[in-house]
Amino acid sequence: MGYTETIADGTLIGDIPGIRPGTFFRDRQELHDKKLHRGLQRGIAPHGSSIVLSGGYIDDDDMGDVIIYTGEGGRDPNTGRQIADQQLISGNKALAENHLNGIPVRVHRGTAHVPDMPEGFRYRYDGLYRVAQYWQEVGQDGFKIWRFRIEKALILDYAPQPEDSAAGESARIDGPNGNEIPQRRQLTIARIVRSTAVGEWVKRLHGFTCQTCGIQLTTMAGAYAETCHIKPLGRPHNGPDISENILCLCPNCHVLFDELAFWINDDLSIQGLDRFLRVHPQHAISPDVLQYHQRMCGR
Ligand SMILES: [Zn+2]
Repeated sequence: MGYTETIADGTLIGDIPGIRPGTFFRDRQELHDKKLHRGLQRGIAPHGSSIVLSGGYIDDDDMGDVIIYTGEGGRDPNTGRQIADQQLISGNKALAENHLNGIPVRVHRGTAHVPDMPEGFRYRYDGLYRVAQYWQEVGQDGFKIWRFRIEKALILDYAPQPEDSAAGESARIDGPNGNEIPQRRQLTIARIVRSTAVGEWVKRLHGFTCQTCGIQLTTMAGAYAETCHIKPLGRPHNGPDISENILCLCPNCHVLFDELAFWINDDLSIQGLDRFLRVHPQHAISPDVLQYHQRMCGR
């Protein structure tokens, strides 16, 4: 049981029926033949439907349920070293799109990532992950690389198909039948909007008015705004949850800022827009975190 979707060119998104996480495979050919990971060379399969952690890249960081994965391109095929900047195209773009659309990614680990790999096997399928975040940074070889924070997927909303319900017939006698169950499986990945005490303080200071576009959303329950951490919380960024790292934004601007659609310059002008960040005398913004976010945007 799980989430599976077939897209136009035959690529399977999500679980492969009959293959459980933790299953071992002999080689890339077997991963390809079982439709787990199409192709024999690339780390990112078409549509970003799956990735293989092979251990060859110095910038990858595998923490188990969280992987900081380095994108593809710009490498010397012989040494594996970065010799040019990576672009947001091909597999890198596919992973970014999976992030925006909440599409899961199958993760496979090679021998270098699996200390107890059984004799005769070289890969393990480790289940569905989600692309939680992506950004640019300068890699260890001095070139810009794309990085992806890939987390063990949490399937929050799973609407079963009729064949999943073995007790379907008898259940209909006692209560409502299954006709109103959606036929389409849904995978919903919640957008986590953190709002701590300091975040609430920032929002109140700005009167729940977006610091980049000036809009104030009003609902029946009152004004609504979101707190946005300029340098993201969590690994590998480890931004602080302090007011100097927080903006009060409307949901639209929050998404655009997190997705690196614009950045804020050191003089607080907003890149790409003919305006400045709205400020409050009690709420200073740290230049360090602004510059960190600028670098994530590839500045
Ligand atoms: Zn806004």
